Amino acid sequence: MNIRKEDKPSILLIYTGGTIGMIKNPETGTLEAFNFQHLLEHVPELQDVKCSISSIQFDPPMDSSAMGPESWQKIVRIIAENYSTYDGFVVLHGTDTMAFTASALSFMLENLNKPVILTGSQVPIGMLRTDGKENLITAIEIAAAKENDIPVVPEVCIFFENDLLRGNRSSKINADYFNAFQSYNYPVLAHAGISINYDTAQIYRPVSRKPLKPHYKLDCHIAILKLFPGISPQVVESILNIPDLKGVVMETFGSGNAPSEEWFLNMLKEAVDRGLVIVNVTQCHAGSVEMHRYETGYKLLEAGVASGFDSTTECAVTKLMFLFGQGLTPEEVKEHIHCSLIGEVTVPENFYTGN
Ligand code: ASP
Repeated sequence: MNIRKEDKPSILLIYTGGTIGMIKNPETGTLEAFNFQHLLEHVPELQDVKCSISSIQFDPPMDSSAMGPESWQKIVRIIAENYSTYDGFVVLHGTDTMAFTASALSFMLENLNKPVILTGSQVPIGMLRTDGKENLITAIEIAAAKENDIPVVPEVCIFFENDLLRGNRSSKINADYFNAFQSYNYPVLAHAGISINYDTAQIYRPVSRKPLKPHYKLDCHIAILKLFPGISPQVVESILNIPDLKGVVMETFGSGNAPSEEWFLNMLKEAVDRGLVIVNVTQCHAGSVEMHRYETGYKLLEAGVASGFDSTTECAVTKLMFLFGQGLTPEEVKEHIHCSLIGEVTVPENFYTGN
């Protein structure tokens, strides 16, 4: 597709797949990926949007549950190769793993100073009650928005059901309703009603004017260890001893608490001592890990567990993949886990001073 409008912002639409472009198979009744041109034919309104739009599509389009580092690299490559030609990028993506992709892209696109807006839909664009049209059109408007010739939202975001969320702060929270995404630990960046209201104070401002530095290397030797009452030594041991494992995102209770049994703490300490980076994130949707608050959390700190603060699991997983992908040592990875690289975590002011 190519809609050219002189002197208007130019947007590149990257169609990766997902429900937004699917159609019902009349025989099986299941939703299957369909042709991108067909998707666009259902949105004649794109002709009225005040920007030039071009598109690139994944061939074949993918269900996002099948996406991973290779697809993220593909998206990064498309953005890097077209970076100077376009004012903004809209990535059409399945909702299932959109929060992982958005988190990964935020790390992989270093020095980003143009909008990269991910969106999709819960109902295909060709169906009567689709949410895809609104999501697509508003995402394009956000990607094209400028003030004094500077992009309003120069970061990786998810736009869904009226809200613009920081990508690496988002999670998919609903499989049925239109408001499928939330960012519990960071304010909404913009709300789209009759007009789009930006909360400019919350939007990430790039600190340097350096050129975009795309990163392609990710290390997938990562695991998630979700604690539950009654978890057995066999489960913990088998995860912590996965051959070549480098990082573990440990989902703990409340403000970062875990059982204080000796076998558990010893296993963690032994794993940390041999170079595994264990990042503590909470199973709660909102709030932060604070290992100083309870004795049970403090013991994790003593065992060498790193704090993931208020990180989502999606963000912690992709941050570990990214950091290990850069060839950093476990100590360096832990140092970076304890920093906000691109607004993905809130590091408490007293974290380094301990006051
Ligand atoms: N399974 C679809 C996907 O993530 C769901 C969606 O797009 O909403 O690709």
